[in-house]
Amino acid sequence: RIVTPQRASDQEEALERALRPKLLDEYVGQKKAREQLEIFIEAAKKRGEALDHVLLFGPPGLGKTTLAHIVAREMGVNLRQTSGPVLERAGDLAALLTNLEPHDVLFIDEIHRLSPVVEEILYPALEDYQIDIMIGEGPAARSVKLDLPPFTLVGATTRAGMLTNPLRDRFGIVARLEFYNAEELTRIVSRSAGLLNVTLSDDGAFEVAKRSRGTPRIANRLLRRVRDYAEVKADGVVTAAVADAALAMLDVDPAGLDVMDRKLLQAILEKFGGGPVGLDNVAAAIGESTDTIEDVIEPFLIQQGYLQRTPRGRMATAQAYLHFGLPVKDA
Ligand code: ATP
Repeated sequence: RIVTPQRASDQEEALERALRPKLLDEYVGQKKAREQLEIFIEAAKKRGEALDHVLLFGPPGLGKTTLAHIVAREMGVNLRQTSGPVLERAGDLAALLTNLEPHDVLFIDEIHRLSPVVEEILYPALEDYQIDIMIGEGPAARSVKLDLPPFTLVGATTRAGMLTNPLRDRFGIVARLEFYNAEELTRIVSRSAGLLNVTLSDDGAFEVAKRSRGTPRIANRLLRRVRDYAEVKADGVVTAAVADAALAMLDVDPAGLDVMDRKLLQAILEKFGGGPVGLDNVAAAIGESTDTIEDVIEPFLIQQGYLQRTPRGRMATAQAYLHFGLPVKDA
């Protein structure tokens, strides 16, 4: 799936790194998150303290990792990066924490997937910059308290609701990342085109932007595919017409819905009479995991008004019926 907002390959990661804005000023959109961080970073720097712990949440590809790197750079400190599922044992986290330098940023992606034992270690680390580790085994085992340098944890998650309360409560700064609008994505696409030496007209940038599911990662990825198309099928210049033809080939429709979006909506409309239908049934019908549906596919469809989550299940909206040229069913 070309428009999946998740990361694909190592090569893709390298490209993403190259396109990543490095400072808050270059970070497009997310006004609320940016303003908060600007103030808190300046205040922490003035006081000569570590920045308070930051929780970033929102769908994949909206710029959580980018923001974590920006926080470290703006604070003038190092960033160490890991992720929830990678930290299997308490010792893995202890090793990372004890190697931090004062005010460093520790970035934990997918923080909702930390194991309970690792999470236990994290509480006193976040609160008092201390950890308790066990030394030795059996009757000789004893617990030792270690002091840590003051540091900043930046946690990222697609679902804040899956964090335990004690963990969530330990973040002083909580920022929710939103989908980007077409104007913001146009700026991102134009900036990336400059870095990648792609010749792009204004309407070409807008065409790519408005069909990128509100997600910078997808916008950057589509830009590269559209460039390939322009080089082979046109004279290398990405105009709106070239972008439109390339996106049609990639199965991204004029409203910006991709194959999986349409598959999900069509299943609800055609197999379940428009809903309400339970998540498990939808997942079985389209052969996707419930996690992917909840984290990746649904947030955008809900934000765009095609889908509703109700206590009785998922329901297609009138807009979804209209999108597929079906008569709208009365609720
Ligand atoms: P995931 O949760 O899947 O790791 P993420 O939210 O951490 O995703 P990033 O890796 O930070 O997403 O961003 C994906 C790409 O989008 C990056 O290459 C970056 O260049 C671009 N990007 C993200 N946010 C912005 C922004 N505000 N301005 C410009 N480019 C952005």
